[in-house]
Amino acid sequence: MRVLITGGAGFIGSHLSDAYIERGDEVHVIDDLSTGSIDNIAHLKKHERFHYTIDTVQNHPVIAELVDQCDVVFHLAAAVGVKLIVESPVRTIETNVRGTEIVLAVANKKKKKVLIASTSEVYGLSDQVPFREDGNLVMGATVKGRWSYACSKAIDEFLALAYWREKKLPTIVVRLFNTVGPRQTGQYGMVIPTFVRQALAGRPLTVYGDGQQTRCFGYVGDIVGALVKLMDDPGAVGKVFNIGSNEEVSILELAHRVKELTNSDSEIVLVPYDEAYEEGFEDMPRRVPDITKIDAQVGFHPEMTLDGILQKVIAYHSGR
Ligand code: UDP
Repeated sequence: MRVLITGGAGFIGSHLSDAYIERGDEVHVIDDLSTGSIDNIAHLKKHERFHYTIDTVQNHPVIAELVDQCDVVFHLAAAVGVKLIVESPVRTIETNVRGTEIVLAVANKKKKKVLIASTSEVYGLSDQVPFREDGNLVMGATVKGRWSYACSKAIDEFLALAYWREKKLPTIVVRLFNTVGPRQTGQYGMVIPTFVRQALAGRPLTVYGDGQQTRCFGYVGDIVGALVKLMDDPGAVGKVFNIGSNEEVSILELAHRVKELTNSDSEIVLVPYDEAYEEGFEDMPRRVPDITKIDAQVGFHPEMTLDGILQKVIAYHSGR
């Protein structure tokens, strides 16, 4: 199979590229290196079945040509990371909405199957934990920049599902919950690489708010396995799936686990949200996926425990 991965030099995209190369498929990557890195695909560059283009998905003729050359498309290119989103809302909205519009329009011409990566952010302020795919999405006010990300991704979902219903373009939507592992950078605010780097450098671990908010961290290897299975399954078309782990941990507890596993003397400090992001920033108190649907569809059980994930991330950041 010939697979096109937009955002293929990003954290998840590069692991997905690895999976398809290992399976014996041909991989084409397009990435503008805005948040991705050439280092993530450096090991693949010499592989004869691996091809990459440094460009944006908004370059219409380039993406059209790449889609023509491939059988299926994973659209992962997007503005990601809460810090980046709060700081650059224009870029977030334009990248996420226009990029997806273009990818779906060109894929539709040749009816190439597209998997669109959405996010657990779309559940917004919903308190119906664990979140189910058919649950309501509860957006915050438009004056709070964070929600522009959720809204831009919700539009992507609507568009992908509309292409399926109206034009019979096979599309799949996945909502990724806090995906973590080696190659993820803390540069755009992600908590695990941030804590690990802080702990290794002996700097304070910055827990935002009171640290009682919870998340479930899914290992990138498990997540990529699910993406590959969904793409192979004709029954997944036209559907939305949560993908992630359901092992819930508070951010304060996470800080303690990172400190322990790195044998770090770093202190743990509480930083108010207003200082960490922007005034009036709203966080979700709990975020847990219901993963019954993806399990029923393709058999999905996250294998890696949180400690296992942390050990891998620590090894990566210590250069081991
Ligand atoms: N967080 C934190 N310290 C950091 C970075 C993030 O306490 O240095 C918190 C953040 O406020 C959120 C959680 O960790 O409650 C997960 O943040 P991340 O940006 O990784 O993903 P999110 O779940 O916000 O998309």
